[in-house]
Amino acid sequence: MARERLYLFDTTLRDGAQTNGVDFTLNDKLTIAGLLDDLGIDYVEGGYPGANPTDTELFGKPRLLDTTFTAFGMTRRPGRSASNDPGLAALLDAKADAICFVAKSWDYHVRVALETTLEENLASIRDSVRAAKQKGREVLLDCEHFFDGYKANPEFALACAKAAYAEGARWVVLCDTNGGTLPHEVAAIVTEVCKVIPGDHVGIHAHNDTEQAVANSLAAVRAGARQIQGTLNGLGERCGNANLVSIIPTLKLKPEFAKKFEVGVSDAKLKELLHVSRALDEMLNRAPNRHAPYVGESAFATKAGIHASAIMKEPKTYEHVPPETVGNRRKLMVSDQAGRSNVLAELDRIGLKVDRNDPRIATLLDVVKEREAIGYAYEAADASFDLLARRTLGKVPSYFDVVQFDVNVEQRYNAVGERVTVSMAVVKVKVGDETLISAGEGSGPVHALDVALRKDLGKYQRYINGLELTDYRVRILDAGTEAVTRVLIESQDETGEHWTTVGVSPNIIDASFQALMDSIVYKLIKAGATA
Ligand SMILES: [Zn+2]
Repeated sequence: MARERLYLFDTTLRDGAQTNGVDFTLNDKLTIAGLLDDLGIDYVEGGYPGANPTDTELFGKPRLLDTTFTAFGMTRRPGRSASNDPGLAALLDAKADAICFVAKSWDYHVRVALETTLEENLASIRDSVRAAKQKGREVLLDCEHFFDGYKANPEFALACAKAAYAEGARWVVLCDTNGGTLPHEVAAIVTEVCKVIPGDHVGIHAHNDTEQAVANSLAAVRAGARQIQGTLNGLGERCGNANLVSIIPTLKLKPEFAKKFEVGVSDAKLKELLHVSRALDEMLNRAPNRHAPYVGESAFATKAGIHASAIMKEPKTYEHVPPETVGNRRKLMVSDQAGRSNVLAELDRIGLKVDRNDPRIATLLDVVKEREAIGYAYEAADASFDLLARRTLGKVPSYFDVVQFDVNVEQRYNAVGERVTVSMAVVKVKVGDETLISAGEGSGPVHALDVALRKDLGKYQRYINGLELTDYRVRILDAGTEAVTRVLIESQDETGEHWTTVGVSPNIIDASFQALMDSIVYKLIKAGATA
């Protein structure tokens, strides 16, 4: 049986840009559009030309994308003609393949927010769709507050949708703007809409205010809708939009959808999903959500020993889909609860060839347990475990020695009379016969130490030039008689690989220093540096 086409519409650059603290530059937008295009997303909504300089510029230049690049904007204002509305004119002039209009479909909003009549709202929809069609654009209409509007006045909500469809809009998109609608309501209402508008012209735009945006999108598809709108990583104001990074693999890997529908994302591109998700986090300078479905660090991580031994025999026992399909990997965490199977699997993954009966494996397991008892967390710090395993098996070159370091914190007035706190660090490192002394300044002592440590490592410098710290987490633990500090540092290099290291000490600088050192040494090993 031929599969039906299901279309994906990304609004990371428009609705996602409404997120607190998110401010895309023109370059960011072009980069994300390129990633989405490459992934195989059918529609990429770039922004709101005329509303801000970035979006106006974005739509002012031609792009080389296969996706249907879409401009967003309002239908003509009430009481004006389509030809006498500067906002609409800017939208029609934008270099876009498609135009997505937003219009009210809740009678209450038409009267209270727009202060106009229901008939004028319908006329505005008809006129705007017609004007865009005349310009040769594909047209979409976002029906704002559709589900709330439908509950209040189904005739009017449907009339808005029908008005756009009758004028030739390719898609009528039902928006759960407040995000409060539940899946069974979405299913019931979309079913009704699909009785008057063919489902292959109906889209769903769900917000995540009850954490059901993904469920609502899937419910809409089951009820007949054939376009899903969402964002990467569920970015969006308040609780976010429907998360395409969760929706895409569900559509492709779950038989209910995979048997019935075809999407623009190929199996090969699906393997890049994790990369695309992380690229957005990086751009926003956010730590990736470890517990994100499919692409999170923990999505395929197993801790308990008994589960791990079952997974080694048959991954399906604890995995709902194969992690490689989305570019993720199985992770058997090494911790004090871990059995031999976890440790063996981890050694295998990092490429350390050890005989299964090697007594050093028991030693390694004991060391992990001892160190976890005093606060180390190897399940979270894969790179530190890697080093610990190599050290226990006697395989870490002695690259360099930090002979001495000194960190200070100073509070003083700066040149313009503001009270500032600055830190400076001096590090003395021995590389071979060479002694190197570097100083670094930073906003805090750990930052300064990091800057100084990575400033000059002599012959190893070229290996660590692309090294970057992407996350720093501190926790105070109550370990027996005294409180200790655990520091987890996440690093990244020029290849985009991430790793985490750990340090533990009663002193936060010392704990940070251990984690920094592990990160550098791990990078040197990974790069194949020799002592
Ligand atoms: Zn929205």
